[in-house]
Amino acid sequence: LSSRAALVIIGTGMAGIGLARALRRQGDTRSITLISADSGDDYSKPLLSTGFSKGLAPEKLAQRSAAELGEELNARLVTHTHVNALDVDNHAVLLGNAPGQERLSYETLVLATGAAPRMPFSSEPSVASRCFTVNDLDDYRRFHQALSHGHSRVAIVGAGLVGCEFANDLHAGGHPVSIIAPEGNLLARLLPPPLGHALGDAFSDAGIRLYLGRTIESIALSHANDIALHLDNGSVLSTDIILMATGLAPRTALAEAAGLTVSSSGIVVDRHLRTSHPNIYALGDAACVDGVNAMYVQPLQASAKALAATLAGTPTRVSFGAWPVVVKTPLLPVVAYPAPSPPERWRIEGEGGDISALAEDKDGHLIGFALTGGCVRRKVELSRAAPALLG
Ligand code: FAD
Repeated sequence: LSSRAALVIIGTGMAGIGLARALRRQGDTRSITLISADSGDDYSKPLLSTGFSKGLAPEKLAQRSAAELGEELNARLVTHTHVNALDVDNHAVLLGNAPGQERLSYETLVLATGAAPRMPFSSEPSVASRCFTVNDLDDYRRFHQALSHGHSRVAIVGAGLVGCEFANDLHAGGHPVSIIAPEGNLLARLLPPPLGHALGDAFSDAGIRLYLGRTIESIALSHANDIALHLDNGSVLSTDIILMATGLAPRTALAEAAGLTVSSSGIVVDRHLRTSHPNIYALGDAACVDGVNAMYVQPLQASAKALAATLAGTPTRVSFGAWPVVVKTPLLPVVAYPAPSPPERWRIEGEGGDISALAEDKDGHLIGFALTGGCVRRKVELSRAAPALLG
């Protein structure tokens, strides 16, 4: 089987769809094929970690089905199909498995393959069926289904943004929640310890159980069919479901196998989103733009806009502003704009849950910030004062 499209986009996340939409918005009429390993439904990924408090069924999260999206974009959508390889010398991607494998030729290829959950350990099959990651709408459907039989207990492994947001959301949805993480504080990569403590206090006060500074030694099923998590300090935690939130790694395998330059931070692209190979571009969580892989929505939206202009014949460099990350933890609101390198010092003010932390370099310049509680209202003022992520 073979077919052809002027533009092939691998990935129907916010980056891939955002690019197709930006092109159509500017009147571009070239033929576009979008390929996705998942359902291809158009959804906002940030909403995945807010669905339980709002009682949202998975179908409410999909703004458009893949078929509706294809109509809107006047594009072909190939869903539940994995791209196995790129034949960059002959400008083609290979879809699905032999013997029905399709060969799809392109003039321009865009890699918007996102990032995949890191799995630090695998569990035996009896437990694996109750161990989840939630990184797309299909994952959410499975997780939602597993939690639909009453108020199951959930143990979340990982205390980063995804782990903390799900903890708050599942708790608000009526589930008993625990968090296990090796770091001593929540959101350790975004917040200095006093702010991480403040969030931890808000979580503990609400009844979320924290096992910080702890690792999991083994996982087993008990006689009562509970999952028993054996921690490194000898304690045992009982749960019904495990949610793994142990970070995301950019999906670079396809690009790497095709000989494109990649790093541990993603597919390497310049400010025009160009990879090391002509006619191949990358954006979103998969891409490392001039050394920066931000992995949140505003940078990928800016990238989609700039790349659409470039592909239409106006070469446009992308810039990222000082866009802070808003962490969706209503138990204690958090906003953070992490400094690009460890700060020389933190200037921390405030009390209780209302804390401002300003990250400074050795000359006393503001290079990042973190805010909790009532102090999140300083977000706009501090974003104006902080240096751009990619100026
Ligand atoms: P993805 O959405 O991961 O899409 C990747 C696509 O590539 C998928 O369609 C996948 O099927 C496809 N694909 C990959 N490999 C292949 C292959 N070989 N063949 C075919 N298809 C392939 N950011 C914010 O700014 N604010 C927030 O509040 C926020 N909340 C978040 C909450 C959660 C729970 C998570 C997980 C992330 C959150 N983020 C947030 C981050 C943000 O959602 C991501 O940065 C963004 O959605 C990434 O989009 P993407 O299109 O690059 O990747």
